[in-house]
Order: sequence, then C-alpha cells, then structure tokens
Amino acid sequence: MTEIKYDRQSRIPEWDQKKITNAKVAVIGAGALGNHVCLGLIGLGVGSIKIFDYDEIETHNLNRQSLFRENDIGQNKAEILAELLMERNSSIEIIGIDEKIEEDTIDDIIRDVDVIVDCVDLIYVRYFLNRFCIERNIPLIHGGISWTGGQTGILTRKTPCIRCIYPDALQKEELDNETSCIRNPEASVVYISQIIAGLMVYNVRQVLLPLPMDFKHPSGLLKMDVRLENPFYFEKTMRKKKCACVKLLKKVAPDILKEEKENLKKIEKENLKELQKTVEMSNDKKSKKKSTSIKKKSSKSAKIAKISKKISKSK
Ligand SMILES: [Zn+2]
Repeated sequence: MTEIKYDRQSRIPEWDQKKITNAKVAVIGAGALGNHVCLGLIGLGVGSIKIFDYDEIETHNLNRQSLFRENDIGQNKAEILAELLMERNSSIEIIGIDEKIEEDTIDDIIRDVDVIVDCVDLIYVRYFLNRFCIERNIPLIHGGISWTGGQTGILTRKTPCIRCIYPDALQKEELDNETSCIRNPEASVVYISQIIAGLMVYNVRQVLLPLPMDFKHPSGLLKMDVRLENPFYFEKTMRKKKCACVKLLKKVAPDILKEEKENLKKIEKENLKELQKTVEMSNDKKSKKKSTSIKKKSSKSAKIAKISKKISKSK
C-alpha cells in the first residue's frame, strides 16, 4: 500500500522513500503555514508528525488555514489538524498537541524528532527554538511570511542561526508582542502561505533525503516577493561573531567553529590571490596599451617625416 501511495515521487532518481517514512518531524504552529506544511509532509509520507499549537480556530483563520472547517471554530488547532490529516493518510502517525511551547518547557515537550519545522509567527519563540535545535543538533526549517512574500531556510549547527539573521528583533518584538498578533494583526493571504509552505516541505525533504539533483546552496535564505520581476532569490547569510550561537557552539560543537574559521581563511586567501591576479592583469594591459600607443605614435611620426620629405623634394 505504502509503495503505491508514494509511487510517483519514488520514480525520481535515487529517491529512497524509507528515509522519509522512518522520519519524525515536529511542526511548531498550526496556522496558515502549519496547515500547508503538514499537508505537504503527509504527501511526502513522513512517518511521524507531531503538531504543536495552543491556539483555538477562529472565523478569520478559515480562508488561509485551508484544512479547517466552519464546524472546527473554537477547537484547538493542533488537535483538529492532526485529526483531519489522519483522515487523509492513515498510515502516518500524527499527533496534535495542545501545548504552549516556552523557553523553559521546550526541553520536556519536544523529544525524539529528526527535523523541526518553524511555522510560528513570533520571533521570540523562534529564538528559543533556535537555541534548542543547536543544542540538540536538530535541523530547523525556518519559514516566515508577509502579504507579498516570505522566506525559508535550513538552519543547522553549520549555518548561521536565527539570531545571526535577526539580531535586533527581540526588543522590537517585546514592544509589539502585545498588539502585533491580537489587536493589530498583519495582513496575510493564502497563496503566499501555500508557496512558502511548499518550499519549506522541499527543505524538509532535502534534509531527510538529500538528492544529487539538489542545488547546493551556501548558507542562507530562499526568499520570495511577488512584486519583483524575478520573485524568487537567494540571500546568503553570515554567522555574526558576537551572536549567542557562537557561545553555544563553543560549548556543544567547538569543532564546527574551528572548521568555519579555517574555511574562512581559505576563502580569504583565495580571494586575495584572485585580487592579485586581477591587479596584475590590469597592470599588464596598461603597460601593453602604453607600448602600443608609443609604437603607434612613432609610426605616425615616421609617416609624417616621410610625407614632409616628399613635400620638400617636390618643392
Ligand atoms: Zn547566530
């Protein structure tokens, strides 16, 4: 049955469905991104999905949180989403957990997962998800949306972290926290959630089942904005020297920092060599130009001398 279910994707060269079927994924947030990400994960056939959300379904959620129905209003998002997904794919273990994940509870709540998918809308939650994932060495699939676009990225110990990307966001978020989601919600539209969620599921697949056809991105975020002529673009990210992740990595994985330093040195050396080459080449060109212009000048003056000789003879 499983083989038939995933037959079409299994035709992709080097696809190994078992790697996906054996995987355990946690999805944090069952809103617009969470709905579409989970739909994608059951499509991939991820073996175990745990969904976390403590929020209730409201009328204004229904147009973007596509799986919820009018009858579900007032119920917990994570639990209902799990129920609805199980109706679609009974061979997957799906658990909806009505629990608020906090800095001091995350270690007890999330256990035994291969990947965590960030579908939350508050940056401070992302901050402690970030810390947790680095400590436990769990890849974090980050995703975020606005009404015209969004972004996603694979964050691991070997990449810059959320705090490297948004170092100053906490203060802003603390100020806005009370009002941003409840009294002054941001504009949001379903098609953006669908696009970014699709890319996030693609990132989950890349982590669980890397394929030779995958484009090897440097560390960074795949971004999208529908207002642009080329709406998809890749933005490289760099680890901030003073970021909290550096302190944490020194404790849990110092080798990674050493490796990064050595790689940086190599890159700097290569860049310096390239720069020297270009300087030498431009100097060469300049001196060639000079010599050819001198030659031209001398041949010109020789011609002038010949002509003036002829003129004086004819006189
Ligand atoms: Zn960082």
